[in-house]
Amino acid sequence: MKNDCLFCAIAAGEIPSNKVYEDDLCYAFYDIAPQAPTHFLVIPKSHIGSVAEVSGDNSAVVAHIFEVIAKVTKELGLESYRVVSNIGEQAGQSVHHLHFHVLSGRDMTWPPG
Ligand code: AMP
Repeated sequence: MKNDCLFCAIAAGEIPSNKVYEDDLCYAFYDIAPQAPTHFLVIPKSHIGSVAEVSGDNSAVVAHIFEVIAKVTKELGLESYRVVSNIGEQAGQSVHHLHFHVLSGRDMTWPPG
């Protein structure tokens, strides 16, 4: 756990969140400012700053997160959804703990803005 990391604190239960799913490796919770009718985030419990910090040492949790996304979206009955991870300021990353947005329930445009 990294000091002063919002998502480390959420994963540890120190800051309240609206939980979607949890296991030993990852935590999923609804976004506080939803950008679609369904919008939740999936994060590793261990601190990784962003996709840019994924390597052979920690990539297993990323594969696990995608398995969780497949499972949870099925359980929620979501047939079409978008998975997004922003890396760096220009791409819109505001929280520096790896997270995958899962958005669903409305028409989406391409390319994203
Ligand atoms: P990003 O801007 O890609 O780094 O995504 C960070 C996301 O975290 C944004 O969509 C925020 O709305 C969301 N967020 C920030 N604080 C919280 C919180 N306390 N609980 C749930 N979602 C949050």
